[in-house]
Amino acid sequence: MADRDGFIWYDGKLVPWRDATTHVLTHSLHYGLAVFEGVRAYKTDGGPAIFRLREHTQRLLNSAKIYQMTIPYSLDELMAAQCEVVRANKLESCYLRPIAFYGSEKMGISTRGATVHVSIAAWPWGAYLGDEGIQHGIRVKTSSYQRQHVNVTMARAKVSSTYANSILANLEVTAQGYDEALLLDTQGFVAEGAGENLFVIKDGRIFEPEIASALTGITRDSVIRIAREFGYEIESRRLTRDDLYIADEAFFTGTAAEVTPIRELDDRVIGSGTRGPITEKIQSRYFDVVNGRAPAYAEWLTHV
Ligand code: PMP
Repeated sequence: MADRDGFIWYDGKLVPWRDATTHVLTHSLHYGLAVFEGVRAYKTDGGPAIFRLREHTQRLLNSAKIYQMTIPYSLDELMAAQCEVVRANKLESCYLRPIAFYGSEKMGISTRGATVHVSIAAWPWGAYLGDEGIQHGIRVKTSSYQRQHVNVTMARAKVSSTYANSILANLEVTAQGYDEALLLDTQGFVAEGAGENLFVIKDGRIFEPEIASALTGITRDSVIRIAREFGYEIESRRLTRDDLYIADEAFFTGTAAEVTPIRELDDRVIGSGTRGPITEKIQSRYFDVVNGRAPAYAEWLTHV
């Protein structure tokens, strides 16, 4: 990914893509503490628009706060910088990756004395779990790795160290031919996907796992509002993996994954084994919303 044309915003300036490098003694590389976001901009009739930019940027600042990292830019500056990156790279639609990390001034666990750097890159990125997955659903397997306990890493923070756990789970199940991992919490209840939140539909009702050890996803929040518009109140409860086995429909949500139906879990076919009707309704509305075809949601779009 490093060998590309274009510009990356790095500590307040746009720099040529290939020059956006950092030293091998970067603290965050050694100890795994960097806070980041995944954001998408979509093509709309009014040009590219970043979806829920304020909420993503606020979550980045919240993640930093949780880990006592001082980001030297304000919410407004970080929002403006993300718009600048989309414009500078002339992108119609893209994925954006803002990240704040500690520099190479020092070694040792304490972050005191290490400078905080911020970079923002953006590039075109299609359906994270594949176009086929978006249409027909993906095959998921429960990982033997559990989602980290709420008192191990902080679930409200989107922090790089959490993703070591996600990577273990994802590698484990994709090596066996599945598309994505489902993680249970340390008590054995359904938490989330390796990089997605989860919804389950049974008898016309929509459920989500209690959001204790999962990331409070922004796509999840968007889907809850969309579902309400269709007259569904999302019920949050402890879910077991076999609740999913006997569900009518299930789907993952995430900025990268968008709304991806789950057609199988642990070799049990969920419902009809393809994208279900309620999932399809919500997914289709989601794509209308992000692409600027739903005026009621205009406040979620920041035109760059
Ligand atoms: N959980 C995890 C572990 C994730 O990495 C993501 C993706 N950021 C999500 C849930 C979904 O969050 P969002 O909808 O805000 O992208």
